[in-house]
Amino acid sequence: MLFERTKKTRSAYDARVLKRIEKVLDVLIPIAGITAMGIAGFVFFNVPDNPFVYFDLFFATCMAVLFLLRKILPTKIKIAVIAALTLLLGEAIILFRGFTGNSILMFVLSSLLVVGFLSLYSGILFSFVSVLLLPIVPIATRLGFIDFKGYYDPELIDPIEWLVQVMLFALFEVVLIVIINVIKVNLALSVQETEKHMERIVDMAYHDQLTGLPNRAKFIASMTEAAKKRGWLVLFDVRGFSLVNSIHGNTMGDKLLKVIADCIQANRRGNEYVARTGSNEFGWYSEDISETELIARANLFAGHVYEKLLEIEFPRIILFNTGFVYMNQETDSAETSIQKAYIAMELAKSKGVSYMMRYDALAEEAFRKNETIINLLEPAIQNKEFFMCYQEKISHKINKTIGVEALARWNCNPYGSVSPVVFIPLIEKSSLNNAFGNMVIDLVFNDIPQLLKKYGEDISVSINISPAHFLSFSFIENLVNTAENKGISPSTIILEVTEETMIDNTEEMILVISKLRKAGFKIALDDFGTGYSSLSYLALLDVDELKIDRSFVFRLGEDPKIEALIRSIISLKEAYQFSIVAEGVETQEQCAILNRLGCDIYQGFLFSKPIPIGEPVQHRDFPTHR
Ligand code: C2E
Ligand code: CA
Ligand code: CA
Repeated sequence: MLFERTKKTRSAYDARVLKRIEKVLDVLIPIAGITAMGIAGFVFFNVPDNPFVYFDLFFATCMAVLFLLRKILPTKIKIAVIAALTLLLGEAIILFRGFTGNSILMFVLSSLLVVGFLSLYSGILFSFVSVLLLPIVPIATRLGFIDFKGYYDPELIDPIEWLVQVMLFALFEVVLIVIINVIKVNLALSVQETEKHMERIVDMAYHDQLTGLPNRAKFIASMTEAAKKRGWLVLFDVRGFSLVNSIHGNTMGDKLLKVIADCIQANRRGNEYVARTGSNEFGWYSEDISETELIARANLFAGHVYEKLLEIEFPRIILFNTGFVYMNQETDSAETSIQKAYIAMELAKSKGVSYMMRYDALAEEAFRKNETIINLLEPAIQNKEFFMCYQEKISHKINKTIGVEALARWNCNPYGSVSPVVFIPLIEKSSLNNAFGNMVIDLVFNDIPQLLKKYGEDISVSINISPAHFLSFSFIENLVNTAENKGISPSTIILEVTEETMIDNTEEMILVISKLRKAGFKIALDDFGTGYSSLSYLALLDVDELKIDRSFVFRLGEDPKIEALIRSIISLKEAYQFSIVAEGVETQEQCAILNRLGCDIYQGFLFSKPIPIGEPVQHRDFPTHR
């Protein structure tokens, strides 16, 4: 069994040993030849008619031929010739000198050479031949076939002794074959094991253990294999993957990665490369397809993933950020192209929705600027380079400011004023969420006494809270403590969270919201209508205010469907007991339509822009509607 199992390795091992021995033989053969010549000379001058002179000369000649033909002859032949000559020498010693120690030494040496370095079968055959050769001399002399007077006396041969010697030698040969081959099998086994380990190490170095997909190194190697490749390189990652791990646990995170990997494999075509290029980042390389087909296939893939996730009842909706680039290896290396796809992917991330972005030079410029801003954000938070502006919320019914929304502003060196539309998404994907959020809460709470004086004691103050900050471990505790320490009544505060936060983490949100409301804070659902607008979520959540996104308000008057949609949102207010705020009201026309639809609270440039606390109130009176 073992013997069969190791057959391939043994022959590979034999070949390796032969290769090593070849160099040694090339040195030993001339040494053996010269030694044989020396012995022949020595014997010739001392015992002139000794037949071994001829034999040594013959041996030396053979060695000279082997040496001359060393480049042509295979090592196996060289070993076989040396073994045969050694055996013949042994036989000659027996023939001329009788059964001496020297003759046996030659027999053993020749067997060792063949059994040790050639294959098992040639070892067995050779040992068999040498065992047969041993009794030939006594048999031949007994039968009178050979007669070497003066050197050898056949009468001295005891047949029993010869028989015993032959049997002992045969036994020795068997033991030799067994021992050497057991050693060989064991060596082969350990070589096999080492090779398996090596294979596993190579596999680990090139494959991701969790998903079985090739890793980044393999991906780059595959793309670089054939020079001057051209094709589409796509990189994508899962939005909010760290939230999956922290809220649902690593097992759920792993499950998600495996589903994605399976779908990648299922959607892959023969000549395409795919890989897991980072912790939650995947790569796909494809040639011979158009950009349109590429986008269509990416969408198909995403659909496939959603289906699979539904099947396993995955607790979240998964969105991808995708970046892609047309890779031309005549101008760009695989690494550079991956970097470009990565830049596009990062920009796709800042778009806020599942987005597929193609790399171009403008995208790179925007990315570099974002990177610089990210680096400036942390010291900016520490140095308090931020301040708050407040935008009024006006009630039509009482023609009065009933609240303000706090909006952060950043005066950044060297860029000047940076819009929150730029820095908020960057903060949200950094680890600065909590630091920034807590700073905003501090700034707003410090301003509240002045705000109440400026706009009236009964106004509310709205603060935008990012999803990660809202769901963070100590958010509620911090908020309650800060309010207490600064003497602020929680009922003054409205916390604005986006619809997106709700959909991604419904259960956690329900819990956090109920705790906050118990503590006296109010909750507003911001940007309603931009995300998935699932009205079913509204039934689950206790919110105090719903803010219709300004993109709807903007399209009022243009699109009758928007009017119908806003009307149906407003109709919910009685059933759910929340107030409705229309955001981004800029024109009198929008205001008139909203008023007709039954909306009472407005926020927008028509009434007031966000202004710093020190500036005078802007609120203009309501326009009179006809
Ligand atoms: P948002 O919460 O929807 O805030 C309203 C945005 O609409 C503000 O933009 C405001 O200036 C703008 N706006 C108000 N009325 C009008 C109008 O009539 N027309 C137009 N075109 N725009 C109007 P801003 O201040 O640039 O803030 C942008 C977004 O950044 C905010 O959207 C909010 O999501 C985020 N943000 C701002 N400050 C903070 C903050 O302190 N914390 C967090 N987490 N996010 C913030
Ligand atoms: Ca808001
Ligand atoms: Ca909003």
